[in-house]
Amino acid sequence: MDFKYVPTTCPYCGTGCGFNLVVVDKKVVGVQPWQRNPVNEGKLCPKGNYAHEFVNSPDRLTKPLIKKDGKFVEASWDEAYKLIAENFKKYQGEQSACLASARVSNEENYLMQKFARAVLKTPNIDHCARLCHASTVVGLAGAFGSGAMTQSIADIAQSKCLLVIGTNTFEQHPLIGRRIMQAKANGAKVIYADPRLTPTGRIADLFLQFYSGTDVALLNCFMQLILKNGWENKEFIKNRTKDFEKVKEVVMKDTYSPENVSKITGVPAKDIITAAEWFGKSGQSAVLYSMGITQHTTGVDNVKSIANLQMLTGNLGRPGTGICALRGQNNVQGACDMGALANVYSGYQSVIVPEMKKKMEDAWGCQIAEGKVGLTVTKLINTLADEPGKVKCLYIMGENPMLSDPDLHHVEKGLKNVEFMVVQDIFLTETAQFANVVLPAACFAEKDGTQTSTERRVQRWRKAQDPPGEAKADWQIFCELAKVMGFEKQFPYKSAEDVFNEIAKVTPSYGGMSYARLEKPEALCWPCPTPDHPGTPILHKEKFTHPDGLGIFTPIEWKPPAEVPDKEYPLIMTTGRCIWQWHTGTMTRRSENLEREEPTGWVEINTEDAKELGVSDKEMVKAVTRRGEIKIGARVTKNIKKGVVFMPFHYAECAANVLTNNALDPVAAIPEFKACAVRIEKIKEA
Ligand code: SF4
Repeated sequence: MDFKYVPTTCPYCGTGCGFNLVVVDKKVVGVQPWQRNPVNEGKLCPKGNYAHEFVNSPDRLTKPLIKKDGKFVEASWDEAYKLIAENFKKYQGEQSACLASARVSNEENYLMQKFARAVLKTPNIDHCARLCHASTVVGLAGAFGSGAMTQSIADIAQSKCLLVIGTNTFEQHPLIGRRIMQAKANGAKVIYADPRLTPTGRIADLFLQFYSGTDVALLNCFMQLILKNGWENKEFIKNRTKDFEKVKEVVMKDTYSPENVSKITGVPAKDIITAAEWFGKSGQSAVLYSMGITQHTTGVDNVKSIANLQMLTGNLGRPGTGICALRGQNNVQGACDMGALANVYSGYQSVIVPEMKKKMEDAWGCQIAEGKVGLTVTKLINTLADEPGKVKCLYIMGENPMLSDPDLHHVEKGLKNVEFMVVQDIFLTETAQFANVVLPAACFAEKDGTQTSTERRVQRWRKAQDPPGEAKADWQIFCELAKVMGFEKQFPYKSAEDVFNEIAKVTPSYGGMSYARLEKPEALCWPCPTPDHPGTPILHKEKFTHPDGLGIFTPIEWKPPAEVPDKEYPLIMTTGRCIWQWHTGTMTRRSENLEREEPTGWVEINTEDAKELGVSDKEMVKAVTRRGEIKIGARVTKNIKKGVVFMPFHYAECAANVLTNNALDPVAAIPEFKACAVRIEKIKEA
């Protein structure tokens, strides 16, 4: 029997836990803890423990598929490449668009944005970070000059006060949840703010159960109380920031008094006062947040308010402080770093700066797409649906907008308008059904590469088994397709490591990294600009990344969500995830041990609301918004705020995103998944 352990990185959440894949006779059969990995120290959550289960699923894609007369038929790679190249060549520049993936490696995201810009000459390249943390990238970059989590995960344990807001960390990032518990064991106070009492909320010292979409009001009130009591860090404000007075003017308004904010948020004023005191006085306070903060039409405002709070209290650049923007998918940080975004090349080098465009053209040896901001995912879907004929060709790698994007009927309309569509994935997803050509890809266990976790840690994937059938690594597919299209010189790579070496050359924050340096279990956190640089676990220690080194305060007024409850749709709907499933369920729903635990969706309804509606626990109900309706089982519980309902978005059979609103944040173009108006109806018996 041939037996080995292959150390690699978890393909689910952005925590970036390391584990060993157990390989028997060249097949992945299990997962074993990797004790020396500093992120998770040998511990794993259920998804990590069962991360091998989908790898050898019988419905993995094994051959290219071409749609003929409405049905997919198997084809050779040569046939598929020839058909794709013929069609791609028909479309000029902006008539094409590409969607990269937060699930695949850095190398593959880098190559997809290069393929879009250098081969298809289109500026339209984006990916699902737009749906989860675009507001973090914009908001934190505006405040500090860098749009990423400021601290390391291990550092959370050193905090004396944690504000955990809009993140169900114990279910979505369980091994970061472990650090919250370590902080608590060290004596930290934990404040939890969310419309639901989740498992994370249960361990909190103070639970602020607020209405979805009232974050800015709550944070402004904290700042008012901190200022009134003199708990601000005057030295930090003076030496390290600018525009403080503008924020002071806004937060000191009567609107943000505890009494008024209590009315807006539904949180008792005394609890807001206690929270502000704990946070303002600890001297070492950190904020953890996730999509409860970002997925709003005010997502950037929410993030900037958190930045204001941390600058006001001087809680940045020191152990136990900072802003922990918890990125969702395994490599959403890396896909952003690699320039799989409509506005930047790798390393956040702006596409509208002519020197940056020239730098890429020189490095790649060809002319590239016009230096303008392309269509974001959200604007792309709107363009496809509402301006048919403008974008005609779509190339999607490892994304599933037919389940992940808001207002799914609208997404479907858009995808039906595409003339030619290629999907590259490991399974025939809901989105792949719309494709003309489907290319079978290798999964994380079948290729070398790197991914970058939420704490900016760049970690290795290592190949443990061959891909099934004729499936190939995404990076290999790009090289072969580029060759067929006449761009062999631009895509000469023989390995993922070759691609990484090019990334290091053109991306300053990755400049000092190499596969050899990433061999160690602790790998490296960016920025790591030179080969002798040790990496940077904590950002903004002495100065911020803006040219003058100062952090920028931004005055923010609270605005309600784009759609608020009314007579017809009287409840607020919010969405999220559960511990057993992951995003659109493409991988977890093919994992027996995970799928068994939560095999379908549900709607959480407050006990009093359910009583008024005459709905019982487990009863099937209809959920209706202005965009559509679904049938779904009710979970009646006291754990959700009265007036709010919650649905997980993993399940195609009761897809929450049929209902969600695609209203966008005006700056980051992130949709408002976390608040729309909904009606729950009893289903009348026939
Ligand atoms: Fe994987 Fe995240 Fe669980 Fe760690 S916490 S094992 S990275 S899903």
